[in-house]
Amino acid sequence: MRAQPHVLLTMPASKSNVSFATLIRTVAAVTSPTLIILLLLTVVGTIPPDHFLYAYASILIATTLLLRPFLANVGTLTSYVNDLAEDKQVQEPDLGYLSAMSELSGALIRLHQSWEKKKQQMGNIITEREILVDSLPDILVMCNDDQIIVRTNKAARAIFGQNLANKSLQAVIPHDVLLNGVSAVIEELRGREVEFHLNEPIPRDFRAIIERFPIASSGGISVIITLNDVTELKRVEKMRADFVANASHEIRTPLASIKGFIETLRGPARDDVAARDEFLKVMDDQATRMTTLISDLLSLSKIEMNAHTVPDGKVDMLRIIRNEKESFSWSAKEKNMTIRIELSDTLPTARGEERELMQVVHNLIGNAIKYGHANTEVTVVARVTSMLPQDPNFVKHHRAICISVIDRGDGIAKEHLPRLTERFYRVDSARTRSIGGTGLGLAIVKHIINRHRGVLTIDSVVGEGSKFSVYLPIYAVE
Ligand code: ADP
Repeated sequence: MRAQPHVLLTMPASKSNVSFATLIRTVAAVTSPTLIILLLLTVVGTIPPDHFLYAYASILIATTLLLRPFLANVGTLTSYVNDLAEDKQVQEPDLGYLSAMSELSGALIRLHQSWEKKKQQMGNIITEREILVDSLPDILVMCNDDQIIVRTNKAARAIFGQNLANKSLQAVIPHDVLLNGVSAVIEELRGREVEFHLNEPIPRDFRAIIERFPIASSGGISVIITLNDVTELKRVEKMRADFVANASHEIRTPLASIKGFIETLRGPARDDVAARDEFLKVMDDQATRMTTLISDLLSLSKIEMNAHTVPDGKVDMLRIIRNEKESFSWSAKEKNMTIRIELSDTLPTARGEERELMQVVHNLIGNAIKYGHANTEVTVVARVTSMLPQDPNFVKHHRAICISVIDRGDGIAKEHLPRLTERFYRVDSARTRSIGGTGLGLAIVKHIINRHRGVLTIDSVVGEGSKFSVYLPIYAVE
């Protein structure tokens, strides 16, 4: 049984169009041997000339009648094959009773079906490859020898815009390092890696791997460019390098001072008792500063290591605040300052890690005393609030524990506020160092609060003072 073509056939194959001349030529060719034999028989007198005419005329008519449908089917088949070659969708031809023609047409139809099947398989393979290329997170741009873009993937289009095909690479990614790299790969036939920075559409750093397309491509692709967005990597690298440089500088400063005093004590001040006592005190201060710095650095790295686990202990913030007030009473007294606390008795327990939340309160009260003016008051307020800061951490929460530490000091100019929680960032380096600050206190506070999925806000008015507020989410169970 003949299988039906699986494609939807809409147009019938074109009808036979075999010309009259073709029919005459074919009939003449087919009957020519008979004509020669009849002529010979007439010449030698075997058959009379009138019989020759009757016989040849009968043969011509019979041959024409027989060949006409056959040639018509050849015409139909030719049209059918032509239509297939032009990729038209056609119905299989009806070739009637001529079995040889039917077999030929059946073979052609099977050939067509298998070709359609292969076409569909090829289509599926192409679609799969498109999906694969599109799902790659890296940016892919493929261009020809003239540096005209031939293909891109979804990631490339998301960054450089739609309809990139046929645009010049230079128009889309205008950076000499990349363009020179691509030219070199086209000339030298050897892949290479380059890095470059783009300011548009948004500032980004890219690492580009440029490879020669390994085979002759029908689409004209000669170079594949894979771009990795290394902006975040660069930022982290820079942060790490800055951090190492800052930390080394912070440690080297007191160390150099201690070393200097040791040399003085060994040399010129060897027998100067008064100088020795004074120098030993400075050395002790510097050693304390180094110890504080190292312990702050350790705290910070520990908090960072646990940044992804939210602590779930129950913490009594009221007790922490009262204890910290107590522990700072001596430093406050030295500056004739008072610490006033306004605590809501109904404050729920916070969810978190006691030691870390204690460090938050400690650092904030410590700063308020350090940077607050002498003879003023530091106020610590703890309450529940539903006035929450705009922050993703508070999308799911309606209330929070808010602890504010308010001082009356110099205040902080607006431009410093966003950078205040960076490691080693100081508004006035010389002054804060002389006060004994490490530049890590607020960075520690920020990291702890982030780990607790809370928010730190800073309000300050130059000449009046500052207010540091910590918001900790209240969970339904509490
Ligand atoms: P430091 O150990 O130097 O105090 P912090 O990280 O705690 O480091 O603070 C960073 C900087 O922020 C300080 O150097 C100081 O300039 C400023 N700062 C912090 N708290 C206050 C405050 N209450 N009033 C004014 N400035 C402050």
